[in-house]
Amino acid sequence: MSWHVFTLPGHVAIGGIVRGDLVTPSVPLLAKEQVERLPERAREVVEYRKSGLSLNHIQGCPLDCAYCIRHTYGLWDQRQPRALMPDAEAVRQLVQHRYFQPHVTPVQVFNRATDPFLPAVRAHTFAVLEDLDRRGLTNHLLVITRYQMIPADVERLNQLLHLKVTLLFTYSGIENTRIEPYPSRVAAGSLKLMSAPSRRRYRTVLYWRPLVPGLNDSDEHLHRACELARYADATVFTGLFYRDEIAAYYRANHLPEPYDETARRKIVPETLEQRVLAVFGMSVPLFRKTSCAVSYVHGMPDYNGHYGIREMCDICPLSQLARCAGAHRAPTRKCLEQVAAVLPEGHQMEVVEIDERAAVVSGLDTEQPRYYLQHALGFQVHDVAHPHRTRRHGRADIGWKDTTDDD
Ligand code: SF4
Repeated sequence: MSWHVFTLPGHVAIGGIVRGDLVTPSVPLLAKEQVERLPERAREVVEYRKSGLSLNHIQGCPLDCAYCIRHTYGLWDQRQPRALMPDAEAVRQLVQHRYFQPHVTPVQVFNRATDPFLPAVRAHTFAVLEDLDRRGLTNHLLVITRYQMIPADVERLNQLLHLKVTLLFTYSGIENTRIEPYPSRVAAGSLKLMSAPSRRRYRTVLYWRPLVPGLNDSDEHLHRACELARYADATVFTGLFYRDEIAAYYRANHLPEPYDETARRKIVPETLEQRVLAVFGMSVPLFRKTSCAVSYVHGMPDYNGHYGIREMCDICPLSQLARCAGAHRAPTRKCLEQVAAVLPEGHQMEVVEIDERAAVVSGLDTEQPRYYLQHALGFQVHDVAHPHRTRRHGRADIGWKDTTDDD
Protein backbone atom coordinates (compact mmCIF):
# COMPACT_ATOMS: atom_id res chain seq x y z
CA MET A 1 0.00 0.00 0.00
CA SER A 2 1.27 3.50 -0.69
CA TRP A 3 0.30 7.08 0.15
CA HIS A 4 -0.33 9.50 -2.72
CA VAL A 5 -0.77 13.23 -2.13
CA PHE A 6 -2.60 15.49 -4.58
CA THR A 7 -2.06 19.21 -4.14
CA LEU A 8 -5.09 21.47 -4.62
CA PRO A 9 -5.11 25.22 -5.24
CA GLY A 10 -4.88 26.86 -1.80
CA HIS A 11 -2.88 25.46 1.03
CA VAL A 12 -3.93 21.88 1.55
CA ALA A 13 -3.33 18.65 -0.28
CA ILE A 14 -5.73 15.73 -0.46
CA GLY A 15 -4.62 12.18 -0.45
CA GLY A 16 -5.72 8.87 -1.83
CA ILE A 17 -4.54 5.58 -0.42
CA VAL A 18 -3.74 3.02 -3.09
CA ARG A 19 -4.38 -0.63 -2.31
CA GLY A 20 -4.30 -3.00 -5.23
CA ASP A 21 -6.06 -1.18 -8.06
CA LEU A 22 -8.26 0.87 -5.76
CA VAL A 23 -7.80 4.43 -4.62
CA THR A 24 -9.91 4.86 -1.51
CA PRO A 25 -10.90 8.23 -0.06
CA SER A 26 -8.55 9.73 2.45
CA VAL A 27 -8.17 13.02 4.26
CA PRO A 28 -6.34 16.25 3.37
CA LEU A 29 -2.75 16.45 4.53
CA LEU A 30 -1.93 19.71 6.31
CA ALA A 31 1.12 21.70 5.28
CA LYS A 32 3.88 22.11 7.86
CA GLU A 33 2.95 25.76 8.53
CA GLN A 34 -0.67 24.77 9.14
CA VAL A 35 0.37 22.13 11.64
CA GLU A 36 2.53 24.69 13.45
CA ARG A 37 -0.51 26.96 13.87
CA LEU A 38 -2.55 24.26 15.67
CA PRO A 39 -3.03 24.43 19.46
CA GLU A 40 -0.09 22.85 21.28
CA ARG A 41 -2.01 19.83 22.59
CA ALA A 42 -3.42 19.14 19.14
CA ARG A 43 0.12 18.87 17.80
CA GLU A 44 0.92 16.13 20.30
CA VAL A 45 -0.10 13.22 18.08
CA VAL A 46 1.13 10.52 20.48
CA GLU A 47 -0.31 10.93 23.96
CA TYR A 48 -0.70 8.56 26.88
CA ARG A 49 -4.22 8.15 28.21
CA LYS A 50 -5.35 5.72 30.85
CA SER A 51 -6.50 3.03 28.44
CA GLY A 52 -3.42 3.21 26.24
CA LEU A 53 -0.92 5.16 24.20
CA SER A 54 -3.05 7.12 21.77
CA LEU A 55 -2.21 7.95 18.15
CA ASN A 56 -4.07 10.96 16.74
CA HIS A 57 -2.48 12.26 13.55
CA ILE A 58 -5.93 12.68 11.99
CA GLN A 59 -8.11 15.31 13.64
CA GLY A 60 -11.55 16.65 12.88
CA CYS A 61 -15.02 15.13 13.03
CA PRO A 62 -18.41 16.09 11.58
CA LEU A 63 -20.50 14.03 14.03
CA ASP A 64 -20.89 16.96 16.48
CA CYS A 65 -21.48 15.20 19.82
CA ALA A 66 -21.90 18.14 22.22
CA TYR A 67 -19.75 16.48 24.91
CA CYS A 68 -16.83 15.75 22.52
CA ILE A 69 -13.38 15.78 24.12
CA ARG A 70 -12.24 17.91 21.13
CA HIS A 71 -13.53 20.90 23.14
CA THR A 72 -10.58 20.45 25.49
CA TYR A 73 -7.97 20.38 22.71
CA GLY A 74 -9.02 23.60 20.99
CA LEU A 75 -10.31 21.55 18.04
CA TRP A 76 -14.07 21.78 18.36
CA ASP A 77 -14.47 23.89 15.21
CA GLN A 78 -12.51 21.39 13.14
CA ARG A 79 -15.28 19.36 11.53
CA GLN A 80 -13.38 18.10 8.50
CA PRO A 81 -10.82 15.37 9.29
CA ARG A 82 -7.28 16.38 8.31
CA ALA A 83 -3.94 14.59 8.61
CA LEU A 84 -1.01 16.17 10.42
CA MET A 85 1.37 13.71 8.73
CA PRO A 86 1.29 10.56 6.56
CA ASP A 87 0.32 7.32 8.29
CA ALA A 88 3.75 5.70 7.96
CA GLU A 89 5.38 8.66 9.71
CA ALA A 90 2.77 8.57 12.48
CA VAL A 91 3.35 4.85 13.08
CA ARG A 92 7.10 5.47 13.16
CA GLN A 93 6.61 8.18 15.81
CA LEU A 94 4.38 5.85 17.82
CA VAL A 95 6.73 2.86 17.91
CA GLN A 96 9.77 5.07 18.57
CA HIS A 97 8.04 6.98 21.36
CA ARG A 98 9.70 6.68 24.77
CA TYR A 99 6.46 5.35 26.23
CA PHE A 100 5.98 2.60 23.64
CA GLN A 101 6.93 -0.94 24.69
CA PRO A 102 6.58 -3.65 22.03
CA HIS A 103 4.00 -6.32 22.98
CA VAL A 104 3.15 -4.47 26.23
CA THR A 105 1.79 -0.95 25.69
CA PRO A 106 -1.93 -0.87 24.84
CA VAL A 107 -2.46 1.36 21.80
CA GLN A 108 -5.52 3.38 20.78
CA VAL A 109 -5.96 4.75 17.27
CA PHE A 110 -7.90 7.97 16.52
CA ASN A 111 -9.79 8.03 19.82
CA ARG A 112 -9.34 11.72 20.58
CA ALA A 113 -10.30 13.87 17.63
CA THR A 114 -12.05 11.88 14.91
CA ASP A 115 -13.93 8.64 14.29
CA PRO A 116 -11.72 5.89 12.81
CA PHE A 117 -14.43 4.61 10.47
CA LEU A 118 -15.60 7.87 8.90
CA PRO A 119 -15.51 7.31 5.10
CA ALA A 120 -12.33 9.36 4.58
CA VAL A 121 -10.62 8.12 7.74
CA ARG A 122 -11.13 4.36 7.49
CA ALA A 123 -8.32 3.80 4.96
CA HIS A 124 -5.91 5.49 7.38
CA THR A 125 -7.17 3.34 10.24
CA PHE A 126 -6.47 0.17 8.28
CA ALA A 127 -3.11 1.52 7.09
CA VAL A 128 -2.03 2.06 10.72
CA LEU A 129 -3.31 -1.31 11.93
CA GLU A 130 -1.70 -3.18 9.04
CA ASP A 131 1.63 -1.39 9.49
CA LEU A 132 1.72 -2.27 13.20
CA ASP A 133 0.68 -5.84 12.50
CA ARG A 134 3.39 -6.32 9.82
CA ARG A 135 5.90 -5.50 12.55
CA GLY A 136 4.75 -8.61 14.44
CA LEU A 137 3.53 -6.54 17.40
CA THR A 138 1.11 -8.30 19.75
CA ASN A 139 0.02 -5.20 21.72
CA HIS A 140 -3.61 -4.55 22.57
CA LEU A 141 -5.05 -2.28 19.87
CA LEU A 142 -8.25 -0.41 20.74
CA VAL A 143 -10.45 1.15 18.07
CA ILE A 144 -13.45 3.16 19.32
CA THR A 145 -16.20 4.01 16.84
CA ARG A 146 -19.83 5.04 16.61
CA TYR A 147 -19.84 4.97 12.81
CA GLN A 148 -21.21 2.48 10.32
CA MET A 149 -19.01 -0.54 9.66
CA ILE A 150 -19.37 -2.76 6.60
CA PRO A 151 -19.06 -6.52 5.92
CA ALA A 152 -15.69 -6.06 4.19
CA ASP A 153 -14.31 -4.78 7.51
CA VAL A 154 -14.69 -8.26 9.01
CA GLU A 155 -12.49 -9.81 6.36
CA ARG A 156 -9.86 -7.11 6.52
CA LEU A 157 -9.61 -7.16 10.31
CA ASN A 158 -9.38 -10.95 10.24
CA GLN A 159 -6.20 -10.65 8.19
CA LEU A 160 -4.36 -9.07 11.11
CA LEU A 161 -2.23 -11.83 12.58
CA HIS A 162 -0.55 -10.42 15.67
CA LEU A 163 -2.29 -7.42 17.24
CA LYS A 164 -4.97 -8.02 19.85
CA VAL A 165 -7.66 -5.86 18.26
CA THR A 166 -10.74 -4.73 20.19
CA LEU A 167 -13.53 -2.73 18.54
CA LEU A 168 -15.43 -0.62 21.05
CA PHE A 169 -18.82 0.64 19.85
CA THR A 170 -19.84 3.90 21.49
CA TYR A 171 -23.56 3.71 22.22
CA SER A 172 -25.48 6.04 24.51
CA GLY A 173 -29.14 5.74 23.55
CA ILE A 174 -29.35 9.57 23.83
CA GLU A 175 -32.28 10.82 21.72
CA ASN A 176 -31.71 14.57 22.11
CA THR A 177 -30.26 15.45 18.69
CA ARG A 178 -28.82 18.72 19.98
CA ILE A 179 -26.53 16.70 22.24
CA GLU A 180 -25.93 13.77 19.93
CA PRO A 181 -26.98 14.45 16.31
CA TYR A 182 -25.57 11.15 15.03
CA PRO A 183 -27.98 8.38 16.10
CA SER A 184 -26.88 5.62 18.48
CA ARG A 185 -28.69 3.03 16.38
CA VAL A 186 -25.83 3.15 13.86
CA ALA A 187 -23.33 2.02 16.50
CA ALA A 188 -25.79 -0.66 17.60
CA GLY A 189 -25.97 -1.93 14.00
CA SER A 190 -22.18 -1.92 13.66
CA LEU A 191 -21.81 -3.87 16.89
CA LYS A 192 -24.25 -6.52 15.69
CA LEU A 193 -22.61 -6.74 12.26
CA MET A 194 -19.07 -7.05 13.58
CA SER A 195 -19.99 -9.46 16.40
CA ALA A 196 -21.94 -11.86 14.18
CA PRO A 197 -19.15 -13.93 12.53
CA SER A 198 -18.47 -17.05 14.55
CA ARG A 199 -14.80 -16.99 13.55
CA ARG A 200 -13.05 -13.68 14.01
CA ARG A 201 -9.66 -12.62 15.31
CA TYR A 202 -10.82 -9.32 16.80
CA ARG A 203 -13.17 -8.80 19.77
CA THR A 204 -16.16 -6.50 20.28
CA VAL A 205 -17.18 -4.36 23.25
CA LEU A 206 -20.39 -2.40 23.80
CA TYR A 207 -19.04 0.94 25.02
CA TRP A 208 -22.13 2.25 26.79
CA ARG A 209 -21.43 5.90 27.41
CA PRO A 210 -21.94 8.59 28.40
CA LEU A 211 -24.60 7.65 30.92
CA VAL A 212 -26.18 10.92 32.03
CA PRO A 213 -28.94 11.26 34.66
CA GLY A 214 -32.15 12.57 33.19
CA LEU A 215 -30.98 12.12 29.61
CA ASN A 216 -30.51 8.41 28.92
CA ASP A 217 -31.02 6.62 32.23
CA SER A 218 -34.73 5.71 32.17
CA ASP A 219 -35.58 2.05 32.87
CA GLU A 220 -36.29 1.69 29.16
CA HIS A 221 -32.82 3.00 28.26
CA LEU A 222 -31.20 0.58 30.70
CA HIS A 223 -33.15 -2.42 29.44
CA ARG A 224 -32.39 -1.53 25.81
CA ALA A 225 -28.67 -1.37 26.56
CA CYS A 226 -28.87 -4.70 28.37
CA GLU A 227 -30.49 -6.30 25.31
CA LEU A 228 -27.78 -4.89 23.05
CA ALA A 229 -25.05 -6.12 25.39
CA ARG A 230 -25.95 -9.71 24.49
CA TYR A 231 -24.37 -9.22 21.07
CA ALA A 232 -21.00 -8.02 22.39
CA ASP A 233 -18.11 -9.99 23.87
CA ALA A 234 -18.28 -7.62 26.86
CA THR A 235 -19.82 -4.30 27.95
CA VAL A 236 -18.36 -1.25 29.68
CA PHE A 237 -20.57 1.43 31.20
CA THR A 238 -19.27 4.81 32.10
CA GLY A 239 -20.25 8.44 32.57
CA LEU A 240 -19.51 11.85 31.19
CA PHE A 241 -16.26 13.81 31.20
CA TYR A 242 -17.83 17.14 32.18
CA ARG A 243 -14.89 19.49 31.85
CA ASP A 244 -14.93 23.29 31.99
CA GLU A 245 -14.71 23.70 28.20
CA ILE A 246 -17.62 21.29 27.66
CA ALA A 247 -19.76 22.98 30.34
CA ALA A 248 -19.07 26.37 28.71
CA TYR A 249 -20.28 24.99 25.36
CA TYR A 250 -23.45 23.60 26.96
CA ARG A 251 -24.18 26.98 28.56
CA ALA A 252 -23.47 29.00 25.42
CA ASN A 253 -25.82 26.79 23.40
CA HIS A 254 -28.54 26.55 26.07
CA LEU A 255 -28.20 22.78 26.29
CA PRO A 256 -29.58 21.09 29.42
CA GLU A 257 -26.64 20.96 31.85
CA PRO A 258 -26.33 17.50 33.43
CA TYR A 259 -24.44 18.69 36.52
CA ASP A 260 -23.90 22.00 38.25
CA GLU A 261 -20.14 21.46 38.60
CA THR A 262 -17.30 20.05 36.49
CA ALA A 263 -14.74 17.35 37.33
CA ARG A 264 -11.45 15.90 36.09
CA ARG A 265 -12.78 12.34 36.24
CA LYS A 266 -15.82 10.73 34.62
CA ILE A 267 -19.09 11.13 36.49
CA VAL A 268 -21.32 8.14 37.38
CA PRO A 269 -23.65 8.85 40.30
CA GLU A 270 -24.01 6.05 42.86
CA THR A 271 -27.75 5.51 42.45
CA LEU A 272 -27.37 5.20 38.66
CA GLU A 273 -24.64 2.59 39.04
CA GLN A 274 -26.85 0.56 41.38
CA ARG A 275 -29.72 0.65 38.89
CA VAL A 276 -27.42 -0.48 36.05
CA LEU A 277 -26.15 -3.42 38.11
CA ALA A 278 -29.71 -4.39 39.07
CA VAL A 279 -30.85 -4.48 35.43
CA PHE A 280 -27.83 -6.41 34.15
CA GLY A 281 -27.53 -8.89 37.04
CA MET A 282 -24.89 -11.41 35.94
CA SER A 283 -26.53 -11.94 32.54
CA VAL A 284 -23.60 -10.63 30.46
CA PRO A 285 -19.95 -9.71 31.23
CA LEU A 286 -20.15 -6.12 32.50
CA PHE A 287 -17.23 -3.91 33.51
CA ARG A 288 -16.66 -0.47 34.96
CA LYS A 289 -13.29 -0.01 33.30
CA THR A 290 -12.32 -0.09 29.65
CA SER A 291 -9.07 -1.95 30.30
CA CYS A 292 -10.92 -4.64 32.28
CA ALA A 293 -13.28 -5.36 29.38
CA VAL A 294 -10.53 -5.24 26.75
CA SER A 295 -8.32 -7.58 28.77
CA TYR A 296 -11.20 -9.96 29.48
CA VAL A 297 -12.25 -10.39 25.85
CA HIS A 298 -8.69 -11.47 24.97
CA GLY A 299 -8.39 -13.82 27.98
CA MET A 300 -5.77 -11.63 29.68
CA PRO A 301 -5.52 -10.08 33.18
CA ASP A 302 -6.39 -6.38 33.39
CA TYR A 303 -3.45 -4.38 32.07
CA ASN A 304 -4.23 -1.50 34.44
CA GLY A 305 -3.99 -3.75 37.51
CA HIS A 306 -7.41 -2.76 38.88
CA TYR A 307 -7.48 -6.06 40.79
CA GLY A 308 -5.69 -4.27 43.62
CA ILE A 309 -8.79 -2.09 44.07
CA ARG A 310 -10.73 -5.07 45.36
CA GLU A 311 -14.22 -3.54 45.31
CA MET A 312 -13.76 -2.92 41.57
CA CYS A 313 -14.03 -6.64 40.88
CA ASP A 314 -17.36 -7.41 42.52
CA ILE A 315 -19.16 -7.68 39.16
CA CYS A 316 -16.43 -9.55 37.27
CA PRO A 317 -16.81 -13.10 35.84
CA LEU A 318 -15.12 -15.68 38.10
CA SER A 319 -12.77 -16.90 35.37
CA GLN A 320 -11.49 -13.35 34.93
CA LEU A 321 -11.11 -12.82 38.67
CA ALA A 322 -8.87 -15.88 38.77
CA ARG A 323 -6.78 -14.56 35.87
CA CYS A 324 -6.27 -11.17 37.50
CA ALA A 325 -5.58 -12.71 40.91
CA GLY A 326 -2.88 -14.91 39.35
CA ALA A 327 -1.18 -11.90 37.74
CA HIS A 328 -1.43 -9.54 40.74
CA ARG A 329 1.97 -8.65 42.22
CA ALA A 330 2.80 -5.51 44.16
CA PRO A 331 6.16 -4.22 42.90
CA THR A 332 8.93 -3.48 45.34
CA ARG A 333 10.00 0.13 45.77
CA LYS A 334 13.26 -0.67 43.99
CA CYS A 335 11.49 -2.29 41.05
CA LEU A 336 9.19 0.73 40.63
CA GLU A 337 12.16 3.09 40.72
CA GLN A 338 14.03 1.00 38.15
CA VAL A 339 11.10 1.03 35.72
CA ALA A 340 10.69 4.81 36.19
CA ALA A 341 14.41 5.42 35.65
CA VAL A 342 13.99 4.55 31.95
CA LEU A 343 12.06 7.82 31.53
CA PRO A 344 13.73 11.24 31.74
CA GLU A 345 10.82 12.52 33.86
CA GLY A 346 11.05 9.42 36.08
CA HIS A 347 14.10 10.78 37.89
CA GLN A 348 11.92 13.31 39.76
CA MET A 349 9.48 10.63 40.93
CA GLU A 350 9.32 9.67 44.59
CA VAL A 351 7.58 6.56 45.89
CA VAL A 352 5.28 7.59 48.75
CA GLU A 353 4.00 4.12 49.61
CA ILE A 354 3.11 0.75 48.11
CA ASP A 355 0.46 -1.65 49.37
CA GLU A 356 -1.64 -4.42 47.84
CA ARG A 357 -4.02 -1.89 46.25
CA ALA A 358 -1.67 0.54 44.55
CA ALA A 359 1.65 2.35 44.50
CA VAL A 360 1.38 6.03 45.41
CA VAL A 361 3.96 8.37 43.89
CA SER A 362 4.74 12.08 43.77
CA GLY A 363 6.89 14.34 41.60
CA LEU A 364 5.46 13.46 38.15
CA ASP A 365 4.24 16.60 36.36
CA THR A 366 1.65 14.89 34.17
CA GLU A 367 -0.41 11.71 34.16
CA GLN A 368 1.38 10.24 31.14
CA PRO A 369 4.46 8.70 32.86
CA ARG A 370 2.16 7.27 35.53
CA TYR A 371 0.27 5.36 32.84
CA TYR A 372 3.58 4.10 31.47
CA LEU A 373 4.47 2.71 34.90
CA GLN A 374 1.01 1.24 35.38
CA HIS A 375 1.10 -0.64 32.10
CA ALA A 376 4.73 -1.73 32.50
CA LEU A 377 3.95 -3.21 35.92
CA GLY A 378 0.28 -4.22 35.45
CA PHE A 379 -0.28 -2.52 38.80
CA GLN A 380 -2.16 0.63 39.85
CA VAL A 381 0.06 3.69 40.24
CA HIS A 382 -1.69 6.70 41.82
CA ASP A 383 -0.57 10.28 42.22
CA VAL A 384 -0.51 11.40 45.84
CA ALA A 385 -2.17 14.67 44.72
CA HIS A 386 -5.26 12.82 43.40
CA PRO A 387 -6.27 10.21 46.00
CA HIS A 388 -8.74 7.53 44.89
CA ARG A 389 -11.84 7.00 47.03
CA THR A 390 -13.22 3.69 48.21
CA ARG A 391 -16.02 2.29 45.99
CA ARG A 392 -15.92 5.21 43.54
CA HIS A 393 -13.74 3.27 41.11
CA GLY A 394 -11.61 6.23 40.07
CA ARG A 395 -14.62 8.36 39.22
CA ALA A 396 -15.55 11.90 40.18
CA ASP A 397 -17.01 12.66 43.62
CA ILE A 398 -20.20 14.14 42.15
CA GLY A 399 -23.24 12.04 43.08
CA TRP A 400 -21.51 9.92 45.80
CA LYS A 401 -21.81 10.17 49.57
CA ASP A 402 -20.68 8.39 52.75
CA THR A 403 -17.42 7.05 51.36
CA THR A 404 -13.94 7.22 52.82
CA ASP A 405 -10.53 7.70 51.31
CA ASP A 406 -8.74 4.74 49.81
CA ASP A 407 -5.44 5.38 51.45
S1 SF4 B 1 -10.94 -9.12 38.17
FE1 SF4 B 1 -11.01 -6.93 38.66
S2 SF4 B 1 -9.22 -6.09 37.66
FE2 SF4 B 1 -9.59 -8.04 36.72
S3 SF4 B 1 -10.85 -7.57 34.94
FE3 SF4 B 1 -12.21 -8.07 36.64
S4 SF4 B 1 -12.74 -6.08 37.49
FE4 SF4 B 1 -10.91 -5.78 36.25
